[in-house]
Amino acid sequence: MEQVECIVVGAGVVGLAVARVLARTGREVIVIEAERGIGTGVSSRSSEVIHAGIYYPTGLTKSRLCVEGKEKLYAFCCEHHVPHRRVGKLLVATSAAELPHLEAIRKQAVANGVNDLVPLTAAEARDLEPALECVAATLSPSTGIIDSHAFMFALQADAEAHGAMVAFETPLITSEVAPGGIIVETGGASPMKLKTSMLVNAAGLGAQGVARSMAGMAVEKIPPLHLAKGNYYALARRSPFSHLIYPMPSEGGLGVHLTLDMGGQARFGPDIEWIDEIDYQVNAERAGRFYAAIRRYWPELREGDLLPAYAGIRPKIERPGGPTTDFMIHTAEQHGIPNVVHLFGIESPGLTSALAIAEEVAARLSR
Ligand SMILES: Cc1cc2nc3c(=O)[nH]c(=O)nc-3n(C[C@H](O)[C@H](O)[C@H](O)COP(=O)(O)OP(=O)(O)OC[C@H]3O[C@@H](n4cnc5c(N)ncnc54)[C@H](O)[C@@H]3O)c2cc1C
Repeated sequence: MEQVECIVVGAGVVGLAVARVLARTGREVIVIEAERGIGTGVSSRSSEVIHAGIYYPTGLTKSRLCVEGKEKLYAFCCEHHVPHRRVGKLLVATSAAELPHLEAIRKQAVANGVNDLVPLTAAEARDLEPALECVAATLSPSTGIIDSHAFMFALQADAEAHGAMVAFETPLITSEVAPGGIIVETGGASPMKLKTSMLVNAAGLGAQGVARSMAGMAVEKIPPLHLAKGNYYALARRSPFSHLIYPMPSEGGLGVHLTLDMGGQARFGPDIEWIDEIDYQVNAERAGRFYAAIRRYWPELREGDLLPAYAGIRPKIERPGGPTTDFMIHTAEQHGIPNVVHLFGIESPGLTSALAIAEEVAARLSR
């Protein structure tokens, strides 16, 4: 049986970032990926926003890792020439009733260590974005956008430059703890048995399945998986906005916001649609809600302006309507199996936090 020091399951942004950090510390690493290429899962269907770390309750691991991850990500992008832009975002209150919410978010941001927010009157916001309708806004200058695929390619290249390997079409089928290591059985065209000293489960929507397939893993230690689909609609004309525009957060998401990709294309979403099966078809029936939500901050949106674009699925741990949950970075402390890390619930801001999550995983593995 082949031996390898570390196995990372999943070549999404998180698995690649983990593999890179482990390889950079001199460990031998193989990433096993079920699909044919990197980043075809959750990571390929996001808003590609570098979040500032404004919203999440203080004390959650995701709040800390978002703020740390953002700084690391901007530095990484500069060093590795990953296309990105600090475009800034406007968080907007569209009625007087929303003003306390806007103020609460500003306070939450400060508590999280995000100290660069700029409160704006409606007139100041309109100076920046003449098409915007609001009663007040807050500018977040450190929010940005990134080419997430270029980021993942750069992570893969750096990991491989430090000796890591990515094995495609190699799904993990089972694993079990054995004397002297963990035995991993893979499927695909060339099934293998590998023995490893460390296993990191970064399988995104598949993380619960990977954990369940591990012999000896207590099922009560595996959180539920709830699929929260986010539909996106693209703007069929040139964007009148140069900043990202976010309304007040609602129903477990950040509201139907406007983001821009690196080519300047504006898109709206994601909304929240709870589903039972993975399905990436954009739900055309939701267009009406998009028009209504967007017109609250952009009344000039015209009928026919929105085109179905794509959908992503958040691997949520909380049930519909439940309280915000944290990233779960579970080690032996939580599940009792040494040298195994399971990553559950890595939804937004997982892209922003990926480099910080990776360092956290590496630190917990070396404890
Ligand atoms: C709609 C939406 C919008 C988002 N917007 C943002 C944003 O703007 N900013 C931000 O910071 N974050 C955002 N996020 C969150 C971010 O995209 C995710 O947190 C991140 O991409 C998760 O990466 P991952 O590597 O954990 O998962 P994935 O990218 O899903 O990677 C997991 C990999 O594991 C593989 N796999 C699964 N099972 C197995 C198995 N048994 N064996 C081998 N391989 C397996 C899969 O094929 C996949 O490639 C968004 C998420 C969604 C859904």
